[in-house]
Amino acid sequence: MRTVAVVGASLAGLSAARSLRKQGYDGRLVVVGDELHRPYDRPPLSKEFLAGTLGEAELALESDDEDLAAEWLLGTRAVGLDHRGRTVRLADGREVRADGFVLATGAAARTLPGSEGLAGVHTLRTLDDARALRDELARGGRLVVIGGGFIGAEVASTAYALGLEVTVVEAAPTPLAGPLGEAMGAVVSGLHADHGVRLVCGVGVKGLSGESRVDAVLLEDGRSLPADIVVVGVGARPNVEWLEGSGIALDNGVKCGADGRTSLAGVVAVGDCANWYDPRAGHHRRVEHWTGARERPDAAIATLLAQGAVEPGVPRPPYFWSDQYGVKIQFAGHAAAADSVTVEAGSADGRDVLAVYRRAGDPVAVLGMNQPRLFTRWRKQLAATS
Ligand SMILES: Cc1cc2nc3c(=O)[nH]c(=O)nc-3n(C[C@H](O)[C@H](O)[C@H](O)COP(=O)(O)OP(=O)(O)OC[C@H]3O[C@@H](n4cnc5c(N)ncnc54)[C@H](O)[C@@H]3O)c2cc1C
Repeated sequence: MRTVAVVGASLAGLSAARSLRKQGYDGRLVVVGDELHRPYDRPPLSKEFLAGTLGEAELALESDDEDLAAEWLLGTRAVGLDHRGRTVRLADGREVRADGFVLATGAAARTLPGSEGLAGVHTLRTLDDARALRDELARGGRLVVIGGGFIGAEVASTAYALGLEVTVVEAAPTPLAGPLGEAMGAVVSGLHADHGVRLVCGVGVKGLSGESRVDAVLLEDGRSLPADIVVVGVGARPNVEWLEGSGIALDNGVKCGADGRTSLAGVVAVGDCANWYDPRAGHHRRVEHWTGARERPDAAIATLLAQGAVEPGVPRPPYFWSDQYGVKIQFAGHAAAADSVTVEAGSADGRDVLAVYRRAGDPVAVLGMNQPRLFTRWRKQLAATS
């Protein structure tokens, strides 16, 4: 393999580039990214960076002395993959010819139809999004967050600490029920009420009102929530439109084996855009977590360099964390697989719970709220037993 092209210059793309060098690849390495920025860390964008306690320089994912001997083509979007011609086409007309390809184009924030062009309405995925939202939050006022998922909840928590009046609207009866299950979703989202942040559940959003700037969020039950700023936190969709027509199998992202191999030889996918086969669950699963984007490229690159001749190992159970209202929330495993949840330490009311999810008596997931030591112990056990 003489040239490898990595498409997507963020956590998964950088991790793949590092894995290539670590695993002995010394050929040409081209990294394509549509943002102008060098790789930066996204989790602080809804936390310390939004709060103004962390600067832009501290978001950098590369260290000062790191040199991957890569060609960085930044600020340019990949618009097509020609597998037969072994070429990635770029929006500026250039082409990158390569023998191996790593797809790492991540995900983009979903928007609310009809909200385009209305001032005061934000999504949060990129550094540029975070800069714009941070500037608005600094002016204060009433914030309505649409979506009670992790990013919405973190924005609510940060804005509350900045002194804004915050309301969170969630269409489901219980926020976070998908990733954490009903019972623990209620415990974690109880943090909002603990801090006087209003949580409106079980009602959808009909639309937004305002002439050039948003002034209210209109709910489907007829209520109207006055708003100076609105954050739309309704999930993300994988950035894979550019691959349509390439012949690669797409299904909720790029469909991959348990080692990141795609339906095309010499092409692997990593990070939030990749829908990896999960041998534990017996089906594909696309995870949008930092740790997966950081760790899984090692296996995908081993597959790429060995041209598919390696046996896929079983990846560690998915893990993510979230910081809300001063509470460190950690979760590993799959809540949906469980038939019971028990509190092993702390208490739900004290918001310091350590809860273990089991199926037929075996642990399949663990949740910690400000329980880092016990959580780490259970996470290890989970990896060993599941
Ligand atoms: C605000 C926020 C907070 C988060 N907090 C947490 C947290 O607390 N814990 C946790 O576990 N995870 C968290 N995450 C998730 C974590 O950041 C992601 O899982 C991780 O960034 C995924 O990395 P990635 O490289 O796969 O994708 P991304 O980071 O999305 O990067 C993909 C890159 O590819 C670029 N790109 C897209 N299409 C093209 C194209 N056609 N051509 C060229 N380039 C392209 C994109 O612009 C982007 O730069 C958070 C995410 C956000 C946005």
